[in-house]
Amino acid sequence: MKIKWFILGFGAASVAIAVAAAVRHRCEGFSWPGGASAAVVLTYDDGLPSQMMNVVPALDQLGLKATFFLIDVPDSRLSAWRAIAKRGHEIGNHTRFHPCPTGYTPAVPGHFTDNYPVSEMIGEIGDQERRLAKIDGKPKHSFAAPCGNWISGGKDYLEPLRHTGMVTSGRGVAASSSAAQICRSSFDRMDVPGRVFAETSSAGRMIEYIEEAERNHGLAVLVFHGVGGDHSQTSLAAHDDLLRWLGQHQRDLWITTFSQATAAASKQATRPR
Ligand SMILES: [Zn+2]
Repeated sequence: MKIKWFILGFGAASVAIAVAAAVRHRCEGFSWPGGASAAVVLTYDDGLPSQMMNVVPALDQLGLKATFFLIDVPDSRLSAWRAIAKRGHEIGNHTRFHPCPTGYTPAVPGHFTDNYPVSEMIGEIGDQERRLAKIDGKPKHSFAAPCGNWISGGKDYLEPLRHTGMVTSGRGVAASSSAAQICRSSFDRMDVPGRVFAETSSAGRMIEYIEEAERNHGLAVLVFHGVGGDHSQTSLAAHDDLLRWLGQHQRDLWITTFSQATAAASKQATRPR
């Protein structure tokens, strides 16, 4: 009798392990336009000169569209960003002063989230919305949290921001490809993880991440800062290699802007939020 119970117990445990594994690996993806195997979004943060100089021309040459999350735009660059937006690239909201926790580098010294009340953060995002509207004429934009941080003055500001409805979608950051896998069940249009790569990353690492998303019919959101210049650089060689690969795979992938991809995913999310 004891042996039978042991076998039964062992059998049940095996089933439980198999079910747990299936649940862990099950990441139901999305139906993308044109039957694409994945949606790919290239995002560039902080409105850096190297993006204007090295990224925009390379994207335009291949006919690829991307999303640029801008902070305070100097008057001298307004017309350039207006022209970039007119060509079909997306400009998004990254606050004006890039408040981050102490220890990170904000755009403007003194803007640390440690003592930044949520009301001030929300006010600044609203101010940036109005400034961006003057560039592209759109009433609402996508948002990317500076430093991928959703805490301001010790409190979460994602939910208050969601509640205002002032932005269309939001991007956080993830430092690993597995943490940046996006499934129907986990999709939250206001907290979409973007994959940040180390400065030394080759295009191969970025392509692996996209291929992982393709296996799940998922959404791959890549986060860049400087490209061949500025801070948190991706090398020109790695960026060129990635764009060349994307150019060769345009038929299989839906390479689009953050707002387009999140709008399509939002309609298919298991729990629309
Ligand atoms: Zn930033």
